[in-house]
Amino acid sequence: MTRVFNFSPGPATLPEAVLRQAAEEMLDWHGSGMSVMEMSHRGKEFISIHAEAEALVRELLGVPSNYKVLFMQGGAIGENAIVPMNLIGKTGKADYVVTGDWSKKSAKEAKSYGKVNAAASGEASHFTAIPKQSEWKLDPEASYVHICSNETIGGVQYHWTPDTGAVPLVADMSSDIMSRPIDVSRYGLIYAGAQKNMGPSGLTLVVVRDDLIGHALPICPSAFNYQTQAEADSMYNTPPTYAIYIAGLVFKYIKAQGGLKAMEAHNQAKAAILYDYLDESRFYRSPVAREARSLMNVPFKLKDDALDEAFLKGAQAKGMIQLKGHRSVGGMRASIYNAMPVEGVKALVAYMKEFEAQHG
Ligand SMILES: *Cc1c(COP(=O)(O)O)cnc(C)c1O
Repeated sequence: MTRVFNFSPGPATLPEAVLRQAAEEMLDWHGSGMSVMEMSHRGKEFISIHAEAEALVRELLGVPSNYKVLFMQGGAIGENAIVPMNLIGKTGKADYVVTGDWSKKSAKEAKSYGKVNAAASGEASHFTAIPKQSEWKLDPEASYVHICSNETIGGVQYHWTPDTGAVPLVADMSSDIMSRPIDVSRYGLIYAGAQKNMGPSGLTLVVVRDDLIGHALPICPSAFNYQTQAEADSMYNTPPTYAIYIAGLVFKYIKAQGGLKAMEAHNQAKAAILYDYLDESRFYRSPVAREARSLMNVPFKLKDDALDEAFLKGAQAKGMIQLKGHRSVGGMRASIYNAMPVEGVKALVAYMKEFEAQHG
């Protein structure tokens, strides 16, 4: 068996120890005689898996007791509609800060449910920087302010938490959840698809403050109503049981590594290896402003994009895959989530040096 270094933006690489444990437990989970996939979501076995996964989310993220942790479906793109359906009814309007493709999509989707104010946009910098909060035009009557904490495509990440006063801050954290400690109490709602840093696709994590629950628009489907799901412990409909199980194993793995502080140190060390080389090289460059560089998704360009194909082919031959940048940005992108070992980043930089020596 050979495992590649998978730099995919998502679904993404998972800790090998987690995959091994899942393989071991595939046919018979803890003497139950069943795979987790085959269990009733209402049976005691799965209920214990679900409860443990939720407890670990609370512990790792430090979720205060006045917040619900929901396991939903529909992904972050689903939440682009689910969030306004549940939250925008308060005043009929919301502020969106647009810092790249994902937050742009969020703002566009919300327009079907209320008035969307573009409070700030990084468009002038071609989404290579995050507009300073002093430049934001926030509406004090907004039902919430929406941000994307890490733009997976452009590789820009907030390294500060916006202050939105009494207006709840809502964050799409799909691609940096569990990568560093956060202060949940600064947010009204956090959502994230699982497939970047938590597990398989199909599971969406929602952490929502109690007072924001119970105000859904009448058109909101019951399976997407935070109140229905909170009251049913995320079991109003059949939850994505296997994805919750794998995410639970990933959470246990993160805890065993030392929790989110340890993840942050690991992620900072990995990203530094790559950014330091990009900065010293005259062959490669990072298009992103230093203070906004993502620790999770690192886009970079070669001196001549005619060499892109050769670069990707050479990387593939060395077992490094999924380095092609998103078509809207071009060039390369290395996604280096929690589960990417430091060896993967070192191997990438060694290859980049070799390629530069051949083509520079
Ligand atoms: C991947 C991603 C999405 C899309 O997630 P889906 O699961 O496809 O809905 C949305 N926002 C961000 C920040 C992402 O990284």
